[in-house]
Amino acid sequence: MQARIGTAATQAGRRPEAVRLVAVTKYVDAATTRLLVDAGCRDLGEARPQQLWDKAAELAELGIRWHLIGHLQRNKVRRTLPLVHLLHSGDSLRLLEELDAERAAQPAPLPVLLEVNVSGDAAKHGFAVDDVPPLVESLAKLAHLDVRGLMCMAGLEGDAAEARREFAALRELRDRLRREWSGRYTLDELSMGMSGDFEAAIAEGSTMVRVGSALFEGLDELRS
Ligand SMILES: *Cc1c(COP(=O)(O)O)cnc(C)c1O
Repeated sequence: MQARIGTAATQAGRRPEAVRLVAVTKYVDAATTRLLVDAGCRDLGEARPQQLWDKAAELAELGIRWHLIGHLQRNKVRRTLPLVHLLHSGDSLRLLEELDAERAAQPAPLPVLLEVNVSGDAAKHGFAVDDVPPLVESLAKLAHLDVRGLMCMAGLEGDAAEARREFAALRELRDRLRREWSGRYTLDELSMGMSGDFEAAIAEGSTMVRVGSALFEGLDELRS
């Protein structure tokens, strides 16, 4: 997988190190997750807070950087925050406010990404593209959050060309925020690309690919 990521980066004229693999472990148990860590994966992603809690407890000694990539209910914020290296799914202002309030007790701000619903799919979480630029006023009050960038999922209905357009749209939105938000955040991270489309996402500037199923196709190899 690292080789495929590296090739996609090189073909896009980017350095392989510019793209981080977040290995999504939601399909497998803690024992299999441990194999991934043994194989060198340090950044792991879970979509459900409960599963992240359980695996973080079982694998506490491994130095894993946990990424929450799925929706976080506000009543689970308190228990989840101390475990999380980066929250990809900042998908509503109410959640961001809750995160900010919870983080106030800590010296360092919480690294978060804003999830953007680039495909406009009604079943998806995230901010509509046009709702993101005006967020700057609300975010100014949330001093305990560090918005590191943007996250999206390509629409399920679309084809590869459509996915690539959506990834480009996320990058263009990020570039626009960099201009309009006058450097308040660095916005270096673009979390985009999954098993079926990470190469297109890397071509459009992804800095973090969230790959699950494609990793476990080689599971028997990993076990042997
Ligand atoms: C499950 C999941 C992934 C990984 O999906 P695969 O297609 O299995 O690689 C990535 N991002 C999110 C938000 C997910 O829920």
